[in-house]
Amino acid sequence: MRAVVLEEFQEPLQVQDVERPEPESHGIVAEVNGCGVCRSDWHCWQGDWDWFGYRPDPPHILGHEPCGTVVEVGEDVESVSEGDHIAIPFNFACGKCDLCRNGHENICENHVGLGFMNEAPGAFAEEVHVPHADINAVPLPDSIHPDTAAGIGCRFMTSYHAMAHRGDVGNGEDVVVHGLGGIGLSAVHIANALGANVIGVDLFDEKLDKAESLGAVETVNASEVDDAAKEVRDITNGGADCSVDALGIETTCLNAVNSLKKGGRHVQVGLTTSEEAGKVALPTDEFVAKEIDFRGSLGLQPSRYSEMLDMIKTGKLDPTELVSETISIDEVPDTLAAMSDYDTMGIPVCSDFS
Ligand SMILES: [Zn+2]
Ligand SMILES: [Zn+2]
Repeated sequence: MRAVVLEEFQEPLQVQDVERPEPESHGIVAEVNGCGVCRSDWHCWQGDWDWFGYRPDPPHILGHEPCGTVVEVGEDVESVSEGDHIAIPFNFACGKCDLCRNGHENICENHVGLGFMNEAPGAFAEEVHVPHADINAVPLPDSIHPDTAAGIGCRFMTSYHAMAHRGDVGNGEDVVVHGLGGIGLSAVHIANALGANVIGVDLFDEKLDKAESLGAVETVNASEVDDAAKEVRDITNGGADCSVDALGIETTCLNAVNSLKKGGRHVQVGLTTSEEAGKVALPTDEFVAKEIDFRGSLGLQPSRYSEMLDMIKTGKLDPTELVSETISIDEVPDTLAAMSDYDTMGIPVCSDFS
């Protein structure tokens, strides 16, 4: 089968012919219907994130945002059948540890990151293996077209968890999203659907325009003001209830926490770059004085996909709004290369693997 293979960090990615996967007894193999192209693939390709455990030994197939159709089922799998349409979260869980059994599969003790770790070759490929499929293969209702689900496996579901669960975003709250890539724009759309007044912050006008079309009530171009956080505090009369750093660089993280009002809560979704290497200096005394909460947010539990899928079914959420273009597998390397200059918009989806 054809697949996008990382042969050497930072060197051009290649589309190669590789062996198709075989299911483990607890796993399934899915034909990939679509797979989003994400800045996280770019980080993995650059060789960032060894501090996070997301640095596979090449050669390794990239891609972590797939949806698919089940084509082969391991002998111990009970709840998934051939022909099922499934969403596939990137945060594979074991289903057996305490965290999994208590509804926190996204931070499973035995977490395996699809496309980021040796154990889980990725989904820029005709077929992908899903381990522990009874927990990690999320059935899609018939009413949700497989194409609609192509973008939800990482950024959309990550933003859902960040806004609905970790951010606990509610009606009428001011929510500021710093960094309007795929995660940030998804967060704008989802926070708006949850009833918040959303402010989007980025450096690029076209991303700010997109945020407005997705429901942002205000936007700030951080390249045109001295202090983006102060702009947000002014717009919100003292600060946002909830801030999101959807990018993970020092500037967006600090701007996000500095956008908050007293008692506010910050949700960190973006992982840092090689520049920060996992660490950003934060104004901790202000966290004390203002009783600021700093919350991490990783992926979404498969067991809570149904909440998000219900909102997609009823039209309150529409992941296709985030899909900026559909591309073929041969275009994935160039699309990832364009991310070096932040020159992509929304969620490009690879949907042609021939
Ligand atoms: Zn587990
Ligand atoms: Zn992703």
